[in-house]
Amino acid sequence: IELHQSKGVTLKVMEYTYDDDLEELCPVCGDKVSGYHYGLLTCESCKGFFKRTVQNNKRYTCAENQECKIDKTQRKRCPFCRFQKCLSVGMRLEDSNAGKHLLP
Ligand SMILES: [Zn+2]
Ligand SMILES: [Zn+2]
Repeated sequence: IELHQSKGVTLKVMEYTYDDDLEELCPVCGDKVSGYHYGLLTCESCKGFFKRTVQNNKRYTCAENQECKIDKTQRKRCPFCRFQKCLSVGMRLEDSNAGKHLLP
């Protein structure tokens, strides 16, 4: 959407639409969540990524400064930073408490 500023026009930037499909977003990449995985709500992609990383005991390295931005479009670029973010947002290796978390 392009915003054109012209004289006498007040841009209404505060108008958000709250649709029914406004859902929780994945804390790692911002995609739509699919449910509780490894302790918190994440998307299907990050669930799979986290699972593969843990199960295969993968070791990643970051080509940058270990502070890559992880979002929906760039999450595949740096698995190291993605995994770090998974951990930092609270994803846990052990899923033993999963049953205690129930969706409202
Ligand atoms: Zn995600
Ligand atoms: Zn990185």
